[in-house]
Amino acid sequence: MACPRCDGTHWVCESHPERPWDGPNACGCGAAGDPCPDCNDAAPGDMPLLPKGLDHTITSIEAMRPLVRTSAGKPRRKPIK
Ligand SMILES: [Zn+2]
Ligand SMILES: [Zn+2]
Repeated sequence: MACPRCDGTHWVCESHPERPWDGPNACGCGAAGDPCPDCNDAAPGDMPLLPKGLDHTITSIEAMRPLVRTSAGKPRRKPIK
């Protein structure tokens, strides 16, 4: 059964952490994504499951952060794909 919090996508909206960031029921408000605290709660230094559409060669949360949040700290829209 898929995680109800993130709808099984493993990512939630950073601004609305009770709503999925990806998938058919995605929040879509344009905020950055965060790993779902219920099913994708990676320890510091561990790699959370990546949302679809992000580069799977990324190997650390630090390397991935710029993809979900711009360097200016502004949220980036979710990748199209
Ligand atoms: Zn949202
Ligand atoms: Zn979840």
